[in-house]
Amino acid sequence: MKNTEKEKYERPVIKKVEAGMPNKFGLRTEYQPMTHIDGVSVHELAERFGSPLFVISEKTIRDTYAHAKRAFTLRYPKVQFAWSYKTNYLNAVCHVFHQEGSWAEVVSGFEYDKAIANGVNGKKIIFNGPDKSDADIEKAIKNDSLLHIDHLDEMYMVIDIAEKLKKKPRVAIRVNMDTGIYPMWDRFGFNYETGQAWDALNKIMFSGKLELTGLHCHIGTFMLAPYAYATAAYKLADLAIALEKKFNHSIKYIDLGGGFPSKNTLKGSFLPGKDANPGIDEFAEAISTALINSFSNPDKLPLLILETGRALVDDAGYLISSVIANKRLSSGKRATIIDAGVNIMFTSFWYDHKITPAQPFTHYTEDTVVYGPLCMNIDVIRENVSLPLLNKGDKIVIHQVGAYNMTQWMQFITLRPRIVIIDLDRTPHLIRESETNNTLTDLELVPEHLKKFEL
Ligand SMILES: *Cc1c(COP(=O)(O)O)cnc(C)c1O
Repeated sequence: MKNTEKEKYERPVIKKVEAGMPNKFGLRTEYQPMTHIDGVSVHELAERFGSPLFVISEKTIRDTYAHAKRAFTLRYPKVQFAWSYKTNYLNAVCHVFHQEGSWAEVVSGFEYDKAIANGVNGKKIIFNGPDKSDADIEKAIKNDSLLHIDHLDEMYMVIDIAEKLKKKPRVAIRVNMDTGIYPMWDRFGFNYETGQAWDALNKIMFSGKLELTGLHCHIGTFMLAPYAYATAAYKLADLAIALEKKFNHSIKYIDLGGGFPSKNTLKGSFLPGKDANPGIDEFAEAISTALINSFSNPDKLPLLILETGRALVDDAGYLISSVIANKRLSSGKRATIIDAGVNIMFTSFWYDHKITPAQPFTHYTEDTVVYGPLCMNIDVIRENVSLPLLNKGDKIVIHQVGAYNMTQWMQFITLRPRIVIIDLDRTPHLIRESETNNTLTDLELVPEHLKKFEL
């Protein structure tokens, strides 16, 4: 008998290479020097502004932002980004994001004041974090900012201050939840699975003192799993729908926080991040689908807020550094010492940062350990990287340093260097001066009895 049944259709899938899974090719050695950043000579930048030098590409920030915005607005009708200040709160960088239309997302009174000083309308500041003082809360309420409540003690503080000011502040709660990613981030906000979050929402609604405007979560950072965001979106949507049912109250927005990965390469990952990490479109797809599938009325979807930090700025930051010396370790391994250490390259602890020489080189390469200048054993920028021979005075470019380094950097042993931004017309602008001895000693006092000594 002839088989007339049609062959079963199987949907084609594109399968991503898994981070950490080796393939037969191994890691590529950089074989092209990076002589220019956005058309500006690396050597000239170092000569003019000094070394080490952080360089930010305004073009890369704007392009990355435009891509992210497009990824979400193609799939969901109402999207708003809020720039995560702690990721990089250099005023010039914040201004680029605000020019692009980003609100501000802050996690301390210091960051809040910085956003206000940058000219951000108080209504467009999202105030997160577990440590808001009475004065911070009072200021935020007066400016009609969005207060994201982290714990019950804060909720009662906000209620007290609101009563005193005779205002009804706009608030959201931060929710933590199981998204299938472990360890789970459950130290911030109210837990979903145990009912804490629903309890907090009930307390807010019954108090009558607060305007419940949104629901917030921030499930982790450098998350490699888009489905975790779908889970988060479903759970927040579930709370929003429960509020509609019980209180006939519609929230205005769902804020899914930050945490998308940049193209950096996590330590221990075999393949470079640019090949292994999911792109923003995959996150946009997971989140938009979950939200659209959750709400019954497509005309009344809540605003989707994203507090994306590192994915928007990491790739835009470079660090130019100079070779101080080469040496052979006792094992025979080549070591190259550069003038930038882990005190200004905090993310060396997490990433295998790509390093490219800034001048032409020969084909000979060797596995090299790259040390910073500190008198500290932990001062390692790359434990092992295949590099061509570099001579004293040569320049290198360290890639993808735009997120967290310029906020988490430490003044330790050396002073912190200058930062420039290259504009769209290829002109570099100084946006932060290097520190001097006075930057530090101006804050210090030597008591009278300690002033004199003889040696
Ligand atoms: C740090 C932080 C962000 C930004 O996180 P990224 O991983 O840089 O995207 C967003 N929201 C909150 C509440 C944060 O604490």
